[in-house]
Amino acid sequence: MNTGFKREIELLVFWFFFLLIVGALSGSILQVLFLGMIVYIAWTFFNLKRLTDWLDKPSKDIPEAWGVWEEIYYRLYTIYKRNRKARKKLTNMLARFQKSTQALPYATVVLNNNDEIEWFNPAARHLFNFHHKRDIGQRIDNLIRQPAFTSYLFKKKFKKPLDFLFHQKHIILNITPYGSGQYLLSARDTTQRRKLDEMRRDFISNASHELRTPITVMSGYIEMLRECEDDVTGMPLQKIQAQTQRMESIISELIGLAKLESSAEIEDPPTVDSDKLLNEVFQEAMALDNNRHQLTISVDQVELKGKYDELRMAFSNLLTNAIRYTPEGRSIELFTMVEDSGVSICVKDQGIGIDYQHIPRLTERFYRVDEGRSREQGGTGLGLAIVNQVLDRHGASLRIESEPGEGSVFCCYFPAAKLAKKDSLLTKP
Ligand code: ADP
Repeated sequence: MNTGFKREIELLVFWFFFLLIVGALSGSILQVLFLGMIVYIAWTFFNLKRLTDWLDKPSKDIPEAWGVWEEIYYRLYTIYKRNRKARKKLTNMLARFQKSTQALPYATVVLNNNDEIEWFNPAARHLFNFHHKRDIGQRIDNLIRQPAFTSYLFKKKFKKPLDFLFHQKHIILNITPYGSGQYLLSARDTTQRRKLDEMRRDFISNASHELRTPITVMSGYIEMLRECEDDVTGMPLQKIQAQTQRMESIISELIGLAKLESSAEIEDPPTVDSDKLLNEVFQEAMALDNNRHQLTISVDQVELKGKYDELRMAFSNLLTNAIRYTPEGRSIELFTMVEDSGVSICVKDQGIGIDYQHIPRLTERFYRVDEGRSREQGGTGLGLAIVNQVLDRHGASLRIESEPGEGSVFCCYFPAAKLAKKDSLLTKP
């Protein structure tokens, strides 16, 4: 039993005996006891009234009280103080959050579970043309009227960001659910960046096309000259021809890359016959290799979706690299790996390997671990950039594992793909 309650009982017992004595002395115990009880009830009502008044406007000034009332006031005041502290902390946190999001260059909008706007920062006002007082409480799809955005909002599949056009602005938008049914929307304007990207792409594509014609003409003349070469002109002509062929490969790969970059997104990709595709790529690699390595294939029929030619180019580039960077006689394997989350199509070699510090940069254009070796092998430095671009367009990614001197494994990981039919397993020696 707590002390306040004990004190209250003591007070009541004392009051009872006091009334008993007074009653005995006056000769009317019952009347005095009855009167005493009425006084006690009145006192309790008086305290209840004071408590409800205080609860209406809680403050530091607690009314003076005795017994259980003192305890009640003390406890309520402690709760009130704790709540006040927590509220102050929360208000400060909220103010800090608002200040920081206000300074954010990205548009930030807080939505409730009915997709109504609860708060937004100045960047959102600027990007979406929101008005503070008018638009708070409005449904966001009434203000951002764009079919792609509305369907994104209704589907509630926010794993991938949404890229859409709004009032001639290219916007990339993310929605993150948080708390109890609230959403944090963040968006930025990518119009300028897209323009610069487009300009860069156009420049590379135009320059490559411009260079193609003179090089083709030069190639023709060199071939003609080679027909009547002699001891003096033979060697230089051979070198000129090798270099023009290299330039032709670089130009055609640059054009290919620019084409991939500017191609539209692959919508509703068709299913690809993975077995046919991988076998074709393998046969091509066998012809290129000319029995210099031990090439093996071990693939399952997998449910792959995408563009046949693009995927063929990617896998073919990986096999060509394996042939290029693997000493003669060693083995190269093309295989598939099925996991719960997706499928990997891999090329494993026992080649020269790559030091780990180079791995993150391999897909950059013209990045080569050993420039001399790449040139010697007829490399352009664009193969893995093409692979990366193709995989990106297919929602896949390139995973590289390598050990210098031991070999490398290049895996194309397709997250959504799975094994097609268990009984159609194909394993070719
Ligand atoms: P390249 O035309 O030079 O081969 P890539 O973009 O295809 O250009 O590859 C970039 C670099 O990555 C290569 O120059 C090479 O150094 C390294 N590389 C690629 N594949 C392999 C491999 N299988 N084994 C070792 N190194 C590799």
